[in-house]
Amino acid sequence: MIVRRPKAPVDIEKQCSVTLASGNQCARSLACTRHGMSAKRAVPGRSAPFDQLLAEFQRESS
Ligand SMILES: [Zn+2]
Repeated sequence: MIVRRPKAPVDIEKQCSVTLASGNQCARSLACTRHGMSAKRAVPGRSAPFDQLLAEFQRESS
């Protein structure tokens, strides 16, 4: 049985995490094209600025 955690369902260090209308967080990658840079920068709790995480993400995935 899978227990869904109500908080932090996504990895904010590696995923978009912008809050959706449903109340969930966007589970797409940091490179998500559905949400703008400003919305992703506004996500609280990241360990580093969004731009830095995105740069690291793109380096790892390339
Ligand atoms: Zn998104």
